[in-house]
Amino acid sequence: MRRYRRRDGPEGKGAIGLILLAALLVATVVLADEKPKRRLFISLDAVPYQVAEDVMDPALGDEALFQGFKGPVRLVSTFPSSTSVALPGILGPIGLRLSPGYEARFFDWNEGKVRGGGAVSYRKIEFPWREWFDWGRKGVAGSAIEAVKPVKSGIKRLRNAMDDFVRSDKDEFWIYSAATDIAGHVISPEAHKDFFRALDEMILEARQASPDRPFDVVVFSDHGMEGGDPLINVFKPAKKALKASGFRVKKKLKAPQVVVLTPFGLVSNFEAYTHDENKARVAETLATVEGVDLCAYELEEGWRVESHRGSATLLQKELEDRVWWSYQPHHGDPLEFLDLMATMEQEGVARQGWLPDEACFEATFDAENPDPFYRIVHAFELVTNPASVICSVGRGYMYGAPHTSVLAQFGKGRLRWTHGALNREATLGFLFSDVEGWDAPKAVRFDQAILPFHATVETEAGAEAQDPSW
Ligand SMILES: [Zn+2]
Repeated sequence: MRRYRRRDGPEGKGAIGLILLAALLVATVVLADEKPKRRLFISLDAVPYQVAEDVMDPALGDEALFQGFKGPVRLVSTFPSSTSVALPGILGPIGLRLSPGYEARFFDWNEGKVRGGGAVSYRKIEFPWREWFDWGRKGVAGSAIEAVKPVKSGIKRLRNAMDDFVRSDKDEFWIYSAATDIAGHVISPEAHKDFFRALDEMILEARQASPDRPFDVVVFSDHGMEGGDPLINVFKPAKKALKASGFRVKKKLKAPQVVVLTPFGLVSNFEAYTHDENKARVAETLATVEGVDLCAYELEEGWRVESHRGSATLLQKELEDRVWWSYQPHHGDPLEFLDLMATMEQEGVARQGWLPDEACFEATFDAENPDPFYRIVHAFELVTNPASVICSVGRGYMYGAPHTSVLAQFGKGRLRWTHGALNREATLGFLFSDVEGWDAPKAVRFDQAILPFHATVETEAGAEAQDPSW
């Protein structure tokens, strides 16, 4: 007579249990049958964190772009904050190999001379990051055309890339946009908002075009962009200062008093190559040049930072599976870290002057010079031909060849925007994603950024190629 069992009765529980079990089995079968989502990675060169934050601001309501995405996260780039260093820094943990130099024109230690930077060498000298992407930059010609109308042509290329992704069978697809870098340099990072608006639409369209092949997306930039006013080139004053200190500036490193400079693009970092015994004096000389913010070099043990703000030694050690830093000013406070050190001492975070790496990152990811210790040290590790001395240029300044094709590209008036320096705006790129289960932190270091989205690839000193099965 009773047609329904009591819900809380023991038999009832058993029935519900069975139903749950059956439901679970069905779910498992469906899951096993369902293909994993495709994953789309989009790298927009040189788009600053601030621009991503502006367009995704929840206060914009319906007008906010990339609804359903988490982030943006501050992606703390490498030093120099430029592509040939930053992309291997970000993608190295998943198999991207190092570039030979900081820029296309670089000093080759094996040959003892300056190489690269021309149209022919572009094909001859390998920069592995250029081959990483399914859709990226194809030769120098493309970038010259893009320089005329970087926003229009860049968005068009991005659309072609998205169409290729929709048509492709690949589980994982990588797109790289160089036009955002050019647009940032010749117009301003404001121009990046046009790319974002177009990309937001393209992602929605791609989803509509492939309803039975769902995909998730990771969008990121390799570094930011800094400027606003016409930038002053410090190349000639730097060269002059070296000569005044008794050095000879050449393209080959032979005689003892020679320093090699490699001006190329118009960026806010630069490097000097010289014999080890000259490093200290070269760094001290360059750090006094107006517009140079700081210079750094490797010591037998540790690193030295020279600046008009002072001079300090940086030491690193590993203890209890953690990395620790010691910042020891000789005079002044070149990295403006003394106040933070005092706070860390007070809070009991520091141990006898040694600062834990994670605390240094957390305390400085939004500072004037974000994450300075880790980034300065890695400036000597993230290219196969590291500098003897590397310098960061201050706000309002740049460094580069006075007459290059790069300058010709930026020919419509003086350059106002660039990157390469250690400072916040040049450094902070962004990352946002709709990958399920990922929670956006406030900031992420370059070599941690991509790990939540990709299996790591075992590398032998970073020398192994990406596993194509991924
Ligand atoms: Zn870049």
